[in-house]
Amino acid sequence: MGATCIFCRIIAGEIPSQEVARGEGWVAFRDVHPQAPTHVLVVPLRHIASLADLASTDAGLAGSMIMAAIAIARAEGILAEGFRLVWNCGERGGQTVPHLHLHLLGGRQLGWPPG
Ligand code: AMP
Repeated sequence: MGATCIFCRIIAGEIPSQEVARGEGWVAFRDVHPQAPTHVLVVPLRHIASLADLASTDAGLAGSMIMAAIAIARAEGILAEGFRLVWNCGERGGQTVPHLHLHLLGGRQLGWPPG
């Protein structure tokens, strides 16, 4: 995807980000408009538009992203108190950046249902 995708540009180092962790096939950085004291995005290095574009061969990557988010929650000190992982998918799901990402949200009481 490259030139037009904002997360591809972050991954390429063309746009700055506050990176918090990196692993095989993914990087995690802080959301630029945090919705909670901890708001981190776990993003695959490869351009995958959304959950709807994940292949069964991507199961390992998706699992790694979830485990990364849990490890970051531990590092942020919010593992015990609780947190939320969110994958927005497509227009109705509220996805605004068409590059797959997993939100880690925590550090405050979160409400339900989401808007
Ligand atoms: P979503 O609505 O699920 O697609 O989430 C996209 C998220 O990306 C939003 O929470 C934005 O605040 C965040 N975002 C957009 N641009 C940047 C950026 N340059 N660096 C970090 N986060 C960003």
